Amino acid sequence: MKAAPTGKLLGLFNMGNMSFEIDRAATQEPSLAEMARKTLQILSKNKGGFFAMIEGGRIDHAAHRNDAPATIRDTLAFDEAVGVAMDFVNKNPATLLIVTADHETGGMALIGHSKESKEYIGINLKAIEKATASFEVMVGKWGKKPTPEMIKEDVKQSLGIDLTDDEARTVADDAIKKLDPYNYGYNYLHSLGFVLRPYLRVGWGSQTHTASPLFLFGSGPGSEKIGGLLHNTEVFTIMKAALRLK
Ligand SMILES: [Zn+2]
Repeated sequence: MKAAPTGKLLGLFNMGNMSFEIDRAATQEPSLAEMARKTLQILSKNKGGFFAMIEGGRIDHAAHRNDAPATIRDTLAFDEAVGVAMDFVNKNPATLLIVTADHETGGMALIGHSKESKEYIGINLKAIEKATASFEVMVGKWGKKPTPEMIKEDVKQSLGIDLTDDEARTVADDAIKKLDPYNYGYNYLHSLGFVLRPYLRVGWGSQTHTASPLFLFGSGPGSEKIGGLLHNTEVFTIMKAALRLK
């Protein structure tokens, strides 16, 4: 990708989804910011202008899995890509930059209290920072019938958290999936997200897309139409108008 000079370019860096940022090996897969930089470098050579869609697509996937550390790391990777786009806009002020999402996922909630205290103390970023693997990678190692001991050991190793025997058993029994068998098909992930609530101080209201209103930011020509409450279809009209600007 780095060596590709110009012209049409297709980069496939994984057989399926790209790795979550928390699992990504920088020598195997580029970051979203690196791909964004290359995209803008190539497309901006077109004298007639260009349209680029840069998606932090795995934020949604991490939130489906109720995986707070992976959700936050991928959001930070997206933030870095927005930084790349903003640098481009600063050098090329005739560019309309829009930052938004197609939906929220998971109903991520900052539940505040811990095991020790019912007082509101907020999200546990210290614990989240220590996580070294996504839930997806963790559960992938567990196999078909993980034991509570195996789960305790991996949660300690990958997240630095000491689950109780009861909590490890809740995950091994996949209690959340048993309560809600028709919901998303992932095994163990939602039970893991559930028992981690008092440790990470993040809770989840859903395992799929929610009806939350979304942020919509913009800068550059045409961005004055962004503000207040808009229907998502209006974003299309704003982008379409910008493409006609000379
Ligand atoms: Zn989704």
